[in-house]
Amino acid sequence: MEGRLTFLGTGTSMGVPTLGCGCAVCTSADPRDRRLRPSVLLQWHDGMRDRVVLIDTGPDFREQALRNKLTRVDAVFYTHGHADHIFGLDDLRPLSFTVFREGGHIPLYASPETEETLRRIYDYTFSPKATYPNRPRVHIEPLHERVCVFGVDFKRVPVLHGQQEICGFRFGRVAYLTDVSAIPDESFALLEGLDHVVLSALRHKPHPSHATVEQAVEWARRIGAKHTWLTHIAHELGHEETNSKLPENIRMAYDGLSFPIELEGASA
Ligand SMILES: [Zn+2]
Ligand SMILES: [Zn+2]
Ligand SMILES: [Zn+2]
Repeated sequence: MEGRLTFLGTGTSMGVPTLGCGCAVCTSADPRDRRLRPSVLLQWHDGMRDRVVLIDTGPDFREQALRNKLTRVDAVFYTHGHADHIFGLDDLRPLSFTVFREGGHIPLYASPETEETLRRIYDYTFSPKATYPNRPRVHIEPLHERVCVFGVDFKRVPVLHGQQEICGFRFGRVAYLTDVSAIPDESFALLEGLDHVVLSALRHKPHPSHATVEQAVEWARRIGAKHTWLTHIAHELGHEETNSKLPENIRMAYDGLSFPIELEGASA
């Protein structure tokens, strides 16, 4: 089944430009050096209608939805509960009302740790006592090893983010792994035969909970996908300069980058 992947944001937690910074990347005229907080949009037609699924809803979700003319969201997968990945949840409200009028809620797939964070931060939405009528009409759903959403099979790919285990995802011949500092051997086994892999790469200087460009390149070689895209990028990395030094099939992603992908159903 043919689908499409679009990068809604490719920046690190602070975004690029970073507030208060006058460095060459933060003041660059290249639009690919302007990076909203990290998220991807997946779209496909399931035989009934066009489906719209997000991985993460960061603080820039509203702007990303406007730029990409999103009029509905059918499901969200959360990688983990850090601010740069969840702080757009409240902006699902108007889109969730559309789904609610059709009799449903937007399912949010989250690990138990992420669920705990979402319930704490958005208590006005999830608390049994929540009576605020305009709260987002969303349901937290368990994130099993495999989840089938509108005919597409999503596999959870555990990765390490510092000391914390968080979720990457594989869907068809594509995988999205953000905020990664280590990939367990068992997870490499889930990443065979990929057309595209997205890996986070913060900067060149080591960081306790994020991969450097050099680490991501090493993993990209081991995974052996046809194409590797780097995301969650800090202001230390200029798009053009970094890209020019990368191997041919490893590229910096940028906000708005979009390409067709091959998805698979649960029977595959
Ligand atoms: Zn992050
Ligand atoms: Zn800067
Ligand atoms: Zn994080």
